[in-house]
Amino acid sequence: MIKSISSFDIKNKRILIRVDMNVPLENGIVEDNFRIKASLPTIKYCIKNGAKIILMSHLGRPNGVVNDKMSLMPVGEILADLLEMPIKFSHDCISEDAHDVTLGLKSGEIHLLENLRFSNDEIKNGKDFSFALAKHGDIYINDAFGTAHRSHASNVGITKHFTHKGIGFLLEKELQNFNSLIRKPQKPFVVVLGGAKIDTKLALIDRFLNIADKIIIGGGMAFTFMKAQGKDIGNSICDDSLLKEAEHILEKSKNANKLVLPKDFICNRSLDDKSEPIEFDNKNIGKDFMGLDIGLQSINRFKDILSNAQTILWNGPMGVFEDKKYENGTKAIANHIVDLTEKGAISIVGGGDSASALKKYDIREKITHLSTGGGASLELLSGNTLPATYALEL
Ligand code: AMP
Repeated sequence: MIKSISSFDIKNKRILIRVDMNVPLENGIVEDNFRIKASLPTIKYCIKNGAKIILMSHLGRPNGVVNDKMSLMPVGEILADLLEMPIKFSHDCISEDAHDVTLGLKSGEIHLLENLRFSNDEIKNGKDFSFALAKHGDIYINDAFGTAHRSHASNVGITKHFTHKGIGFLLEKELQNFNSLIRKPQKPFVVVLGGAKIDTKLALIDRFLNIADKIIIGGGMAFTFMKAQGKDIGNSICDDSLLKEAEHILEKSKNANKLVLPKDFICNRSLDDKSEPIEFDNKNIGKDFMGLDIGLQSINRFKDILSNAQTILWNGPMGVFEDKKYENGTKAIANHIVDLTEKGAISIVGGGDSASALKKYDIREKITHLSTGGGASLELLSGNTLPATYALEL
């Protein structure tokens, strides 16, 4: 059993919350405050109930080195704006000064600690580091779904030092949404996968062959399956080390006819090639060409299949959507998922790139559940235990 923050008496207590405020920063400006906003329900609950709040998060990959470009200070400013109140900030997570600031907090006040990953002990799950972090709180709450698939000091090591520990409302909501997707999705249930990396998605496909009605594969990952089918994929990206596994999945899905691959592609000689892209069908991609988006036939076929769905899970773009020339597939599928959501389907989207695509097309608010964790959601959906939630089991 994992306790929810709502089961604790938090009045006047120091609540140490692991949040996920790993947001994109450009020249010190927060480019997307989605994750900060997603953390607000737990923080506001703590304020309302008279707790003293200490927030800790990582941002980017500073590799154990203090780097002003990855400071959480701009995040603190956004948080202060959103909450319309001042926030105390410490330039170090475990210094005496930082602990003093925590000890001086009054009920309803917030203390934000600097980027956890300025110390390598965070990702190494260092014992002394987690012990020193734990000194900030009477109760430990994890609300960071985005890192729940990692075993770090602030989400796993630290839990040993608390009798009173649990999860916040965001993590609770993420777990509920994904667990109900696995246990009782409303049918028909269609999964749409894309992106470049196939290794993180194969276990999910294998498992969902039994759960989903159709699994649509687009993006760069489709080419590993196509090569496993013996098709010529030209210069398209492919993970040769996973061909055997892809073959096994294709074989397993054959009778039920569940896996749907693209029929055609928008191709070019390279991503930087300035020439007009050329369309190829999936049987004869030119030798020197690489598939960079799905073609019109594939878009229409995928849309057709999705039209019947009552539940849709989407993770990964259909092509290199960052480039206007190769965004059509991702844009069309994203907009179609939104249309279906408006008509009553449940849509769940995970993965940083799918979230960026939704933001690019200004349709993020129209999805039923946009997850804050791409990697964590893939792990959970693949049937793996998340170390951070396992550490909170009582
Ligand atoms: P992932 O992290 O696995 O979800 O991959 C996301 C990335 O996949 C995005 O940055 C896309 O540009 C990239 N991508 C999607 N389709 C393709 C493709 N056909 N070839 C190369 N990269 C792709």
